[in-house]
Amino acid sequence: MRILVVEDEKDLAEALGRGLTRQGYPVDLAFDGESALDMAEINNYDLIVLDLNLPKVDGIEVCRRIRASGSAVGILMLTARSGLDDRVSGLDTGADDYLIKPFHFPELLARVRAILRRDGEQRSSILRAGDMVLDPNAMKLFVGDVEIALTSKEFGILEYLMRCAGRVVSQEELLEHVWNDDANMFTQTIKVHINNIRKKLADAGGPDRISTIKGRGYLVS
Ligand code: CA
Repeated sequence: MRILVVEDEKDLAEALGRGLTRQGYPVDLAFDGESALDMAEINNYDLIVLDLNLPKVDGIEVCRRIRASGSAVGILMLTARSGLDDRVSGLDTGADDYLIKPFHFPELLARVRAILRRDGEQRSSILRAGDMVLDPNAMKLFVGDVEIALTSKEFGILEYLMRCAGRVVSQEELLEHVWNDDANMFTQTIKVHINNIRKKLADAGGPDRISTIKGRGYLVS
């Protein structure tokens, strides 16, 4: 549960850092948008508290770029009361919530906890294998920041393989889990779908992470 606090008013940034640390969260501080982006790229944060008005790169742009990178990290935007339009664009850009300055620390803490709780429920279902990120709820697949359109069957196959990453899955098992009621499917069908998925991944420039294990099935690693 690591939190990044991005705020150019150093006193406020440090006060927030101290407060969150006291609550048991490891905290990093960034004082401008550029270093925030650098740090967010290197570290795997669970939440970013992001001030809107920042030097170098503003909060909206930081938020936009983080989302464009495919990250689903929780983002709590801090904004001045005068920034009503900003608040709206903050949420449009992908912030999870916002808080109007000045605020009391317990208010911030409540929002932080709510986002972390919500993310914990949602994010546990996001599947990753190397560059591939699959969101079962939104039915979306990304390789890096390229979204790949899959048919629902292709999606189902890849989702199942990614859930079983590191283990060989037989064609029979795939048929059983992905096709549910369709009784008369053939393993040849799986092969065709797998080839289509591979082609789409290759077209997007992704490495082939689906291995065929002869006589046994498929393996995503
Ligand atoms: Ca500021």
